[in-house]
This record gives sequence, structure tokens and C-alpha cells, in this order.
Amino acid sequence: MILLLTNDDGIGSGGLAALEEALSGLGEVWTVAPERERSAVGQAISIHRPLRLHPVGERRYALDGTPVDCVYVALHHLLPRVPAVVVSGVNRGANLGTDVIYSGTVGAAREGALRGIHGVAISLYAGTAFGRAAQAAKSIVARLAERPAPALLLNVNVPDGEPKGVRVTTLGKRHYQDEVDARTDPRGRPYYWIGGPGTRIENIGGSDAQTVHDGFVSVTPLGLDQTDGSAMQAIRTMIEEGR
Ligand code: MN
Repeated sequence: MILLLTNDDGIGSGGLAALEEALSGLGEVWTVAPERERSAVGQAISIHRPLRLHPVGERRYALDGTPVDCVYVALHHLLPRVPAVVVSGVNRGANLGTDVIYSGTVGAAREGALRGIHGVAISLYAGTAFGRAAQAAKSIVARLAERPAPALLLNVNVPDGEPKGVRVTTLGKRHYQDEVDARTDPRGRPYYWIGGPGTRIENIGGSDAQTVHDGFVSVTPLGLDQTDGSAMQAIRTMIEEGR
């Protein structure tokens, strides 16, 4: 069994090393990761420039692209067989609530699921105890690898400290202090630094954010179909019937 690993924090990240070590007993681990950190690039794919792939070890490669580029090149070019699971992480920092839209970690796992392969994104809420998070990933990946189609996409977040257990959760709400910091560079030209510091977690029972905050490993199954079923009737009335 092949497991494909990647990490948007880059090929040299500690979270990736911990994941490689933890999963090596489960199957044949292949790693393709961005050569530098590419966090928060979501599902971005590089279709307008060449990509360079550098072998950095046995079944281990660095790519000068996005996390999704890594999965794409691995699945469609590099791997000798279809992997059982695409595992992305361990990310440095949580991916909770709407983070999953921006997250390169989730993007890479989603790319697997889009190709009919189970995807697991795994993130560590705080700190650098990646080994513990990688162990949590191991038990989830082991079970997922046995499951037949359809492909599942799981977003896993691991709390800081010893987890109290594992909970299946819904996407919650995590608020950022949105801001644009306008500054002037040494040549007198303006530049902008976006994304404010600090977050606030909304207390929603059963949500990923609250669950991790309470000290449990959170596992959220994510869907690929973004159709809003709850809006269908109202939009049909508005668009098709002009009311
Ligand atoms: Mn990252």
C-alpha cells in the first residue's frame, strides 16, 4: 500500500518529518512537498509556469509548486500505483472552520479526494509536538486505508497537550481580526500587509474549533459538492420564475 504525504509548510518542516516517521510502518510512504513554505494557498494549481522536481531522498521529492501541484505530479506522474490515502500535514497551526477554504494543507488532501482517493489533512493547534499529532493521524489513516470507495476527505485538528479523546465534528467558526496594514517601503512606495493577528473561537457545541479548544482531537468529514441545497428552491423561484 502506498501513502502519499505532503505538507504546505515545506519539505523541511518538522510536521512532515513526524508524519513520515509515524506512517512508515503502515505502508510505502512517498513524499512530495513544496520546496518552501506555501501555506494558505488553498487549492491553487500552477498551470501557467514550469515546475521543477528535485529528489531529496528515497521516495522523497521537493517541488517548486503548491501543495496541490505536489499531489498532482505525484498522482499523475511519479507514483507507481494509486495511493490508498493522501495525507497532508502535520500542519503548524490549526485549520478550523473557514480556514479549510484557504488552507494549503486541506487543499492538498482535497486534491486526493477529487481524484477518488481518501484525503486526510492533519493540523496541530499550537506548539511543535508534531509526533503526537502524527500518531493521531496514524490510527485514522490506518482505518481509512481499508475503506472502499467513495473517497472520504477528513480534516483533523489536534489540540495542544495530551488529547482527551477523539470527536467527530462539524466545521465551526473562528474569527480573525481582519485588517490591512498600509506601510511605505524604503523606495517610498506603498505596500500592504493583510490578515490581522489573533483569533476568537465561537462557542458552538460539536464544532471543530470548540472541540479542539476543549482538548479533543477533532475529525471533520468535508464534502466536495459546494451546491447549497438549502437555497435551491428560493433561487429557482427568483431566477427561473422571476419572482
Ligand atoms: Mn501550513
